[in-house]
Amino acid sequence: MRHVIIGSGPAGVVAAETLRKADPAAEITLLCGEGEPPYSRMAIPYLLKGEIDEAGTYIRKDADHYGRLRIQLVQARVQAVDTAARAVDVGNSRSLPYDRLLIATGSRPSRERIPGIDLPGVQPCWTLQDARAILAKAHPGTRIVQMGAGFVGCIIMEGLLSRGVDLTILVRSGYMVRRMMNPTASGLIQRWCEAKGVKILTRTQPKGLRSNGGALQVDLGDGRTLSADMYLSVVGVDPNLDFLAGSGVEIGQGILVDANLQSSVPGVYAAGDVAESTDCLTGKRQLNAIQPNAVEQGRIAALNMAGQPARFKGSFVFNVLTTLGLLSSSFGEWQGAPGGESAEALDESRYRYLNLQFEGERLIGANCVGFSEHIGALRGLIEGRHRLGVWKQRLMDDPARIMPAYLSAASAV
Ligand SMILES: Cc1cc2nc3c(=O)[nH]c(=O)nc-3n(C[C@H](O)[C@H](O)[C@H](O)COP(=O)(O)OP(=O)(O)OC[C@H]3O[C@@H](n4cnc5c(N)ncnc54)[C@H](O)[C@@H]3O)c2cc1C
Repeated sequence: MRHVIIGSGPAGVVAAETLRKADPAAEITLLCGEGEPPYSRMAIPYLLKGEIDEAGTYIRKDADHYGRLRIQLVQARVQAVDTAARAVDVGNSRSLPYDRLLIATGSRPSRERIPGIDLPGVQPCWTLQDARAILAKAHPGTRIVQMGAGFVGCIIMEGLLSRGVDLTILVRSGYMVRRMMNPTASGLIQRWCEAKGVKILTRTQPKGLRSNGGALQVDLGDGRTLSADMYLSVVGVDPNLDFLAGSGVEIGQGILVDANLQSSVPGVYAAGDVAESTDCLTGKRQLNAIQPNAVEQGRIAALNMAGQPARFKGSFVFNVLTTLGLLSSSFGEWQGAPGGESAEALDESRYRYLNLQFEGERLIGANCVGFSEHIGALRGLIEGRHRLGVWKQRLMDDPARIMPAYLSAASAV
């Protein structure tokens, strides 16, 4: 059996390792698209902070790991997939045949459509190569204008500030991390960042960039212009799907997969940021671009590829974010459900906030800032869809009593 895996991020690596365990005789090829050993993007913030070196970002630290498992690493970028011939085109007139194919190509930074976005000095922050470019330029006093304050925009701030840069963040909407936080939580995070010396301009979207004497001029479209040595564009991500044109693999926002993570084409599977699966709570189709999801999907897809049926129970949406040392998290349906109830506790001076969303007797979502002690219990309560019984009212009265609520609900199962 020839297994080809496109993409050597967490989904691809875990899939290759799982395949080796499940199918000792199989041929396994892992295609790395960036000319790097398999690495984890999640480690990039630590590289920017100087807490690890490049080797610290590698998913497996032992240089012989893949060789020992007879996983063939091939540095090549896939150009196209011919599902009828069961072969992938890796350029230079080379093609690789497969019996089972896993697409684990992750996502790439979304591109802003403004004049000047191709100028030197404009930089995304997604790959190891991006991190090198940022490190080469980020010195004390370097003026960085960063467009975007989503998950990645927030998580990289600490590394940037640790290098002494002068940081200004532009936020298109009124709120930082608005895809995971409600306005109160977002406001706390913004004030925290401002207290640490970051300038934040909300409801601001540049109209264009110009090069001027080695610096960039960022036109804010309202008469104001900012000078920058680097313009960091971190406005979200899109799945890597271009090479699938004409392959017959059905695509929605990402690759549509069934509960076995198989695509619309038999023998072709997808896992990680690129796969559009279902939410375990709502059953709605969605992308879930977080590493734990990639790892779990890589494992499940590989078992199915090896002929050991395994079902993905659906992805659980949760994010845990550290912004300049302030921990925040969001779970499930944190925006609440129609007709649902909510409870919250806020201590602005200590940057602590808890917001719980209920539907009937169940907790369905939450936002937290400044709390670390409830993360496991919150996830357990929401993902486990536990009935709260008398604990519903107790949590409505005091949302911080998450742990006893969880222990009571979990022990009643
Ligand atoms: C700075 C940063 C911090 C992050 N922090 C967190 C965090 O704290 N927690 C968290 O859960 N998530 C975090 N993420 C997101 C997380 O990294 C992704 O969800 C995760 O990497 C997804 O894994 P994946 O294997 O699906 O895709 P990826 O890790 O993106 O890997 C995809 C692979 O496919 C390759 N590829 C793409 N196209 C081709 C092609 N045509 N041919 C061959 N190869 C190709 C790529 O080169 C890459 O090797 C962070 C991301 C960034 C950038």
